[in-house]
Amino acid sequence: MKKIAILGSTGSIGTQTLEIVRTNGDLEVVALAAGNNIDLLEQQIREFRPKLAAVWKEERAAELKSRLGDMNVRVVYGMDGLLEVAAVPESEILVTAIVGMIGIRPTIEAIRAGKDIALANKETLVTAGHIIMPLAKECGVSILPVDSEHSAIFQSFQGGQRKALHKILLTASGGPFRGKKREELENIQVEDALKHPNWEMGRKITIDSSTMVNKGLEVIEAKWLFGVTVDQIQVVVQPQSIIHSMVEYEDGAVIAQLGTPDMKLPIQYALYYPERRYLPGDRLDFGTLSQITFEKPDMETFYGLKLAFEAGRRGGSLPTVLNAANEFAVAMFLDRKIKYLQIPEIIQACMEAHKNIPDPTVEEILKTEQETYEFIKNRW
Ligand code: NDP
Repeated sequence: MKKIAILGSTGSIGTQTLEIVRTNGDLEVVALAAGNNIDLLEQQIREFRPKLAAVWKEERAAELKSRLGDMNVRVVYGMDGLLEVAAVPESEILVTAIVGMIGIRPTIEAIRAGKDIALANKETLVTAGHIIMPLAKECGVSILPVDSEHSAIFQSFQGGQRKALHKILLTASGGPFRGKKREELENIQVEDALKHPNWEMGRKITIDSSTMVNKGLEVIEAKWLFGVTVDQIQVVVQPQSIIHSMVEYEDGAVIAQLGTPDMKLPIQYALYYPERRYLPGDRLDFGTLSQITFEKPDMETFYGLKLAFEAGRRGGSLPTVLNAANEFAVAMFLDRKIKYLQIPEIIQACMEAHKNIPDPTVEEILKTEQETYEFIKNRW
């Protein structure tokens, strides 16, 4: 039995990870962490019987504990709770399916405790990749990508020579507003932006996909995961989401991973790497698939992507500003406090106002995050 712990078990990636546990039978869940959804967490604990569970708030932990009086599970809370789940002694691999920069400290804790990381929480690598990747190397742990594009790149590397890599071709669906110009996005409502053409995901990443900031975060994530410069990464719009990403080698050969859009494939691949397992679900049917098309990204309309390239190129604390400003702006948009087009505007203003710190420590990253939030609160 391979023992796993999950941060963010009640979310989109977390619940799909548990589906994989359910269908395979040789994974044991030893710890789960969630935010507020204790109804679902209780069901998960009853089904998967972890020894440890964490929620964010103390009062929710107390309520969960009283509901689970008949179960042998310890319930913890807050950042200490997340850190405990991350480093729980029994686990071999931690699935980081929590959303946002809150994942940085637990990911570091897990690496220090020698756990492999199945990484979905891209915000952690975007902001602290310069700390996470060398630490993982030092501790001899693997960072296995869960993000479908990064998994596709990782899969395309199998059997190839990394040193002969020329560039990474990161594919993007283009989101629900592909082909639209800025003026047409003036009155976009929350409901419009939450309709992704191909993927069912959590709310924050769905908005990020519509603005293409998600693709920008993925560019920076790829830079750290695969040790390349952002200029070696080209974003290619492929609206059908069939090619999940590609790599081009020095000799011009391009290797890609294709499949139906199903996050369970990259999650399962990360959990069992290097083994491939049967996965139920739809298969690509090349008899009926009429076309796979390609476009250049429109970096003028979706200039959040351009800002991310800039942040990735300049590095330091700037990617933290990009990420924190985006998290805050998306939350305000979801609360209907700002208009859709203000999301990239806010990111740009925060980046322009920031004095970049080269090579920031975790404390400096978290301080930059708070300062970015304050800057936004004072202005919008
Ligand atoms: P969701 O919003 O669906 O889920 C987020 C999870 O994090 C929930 O379980 C939530 O708990 C938990 N959480 C939030 N805040 C806290 C907290 N303070 N303490 C403990 N747990 C917390 O997000 P997704 O699953 O969509 O995304 C998760 C990560 O994976 C993100 O970084 C995203 O970018 C990345 N990703 C997601 C993909 C997808 O297809 N969904 C694809 C590729 C990457 P609760 O609901 O109980 O409050």
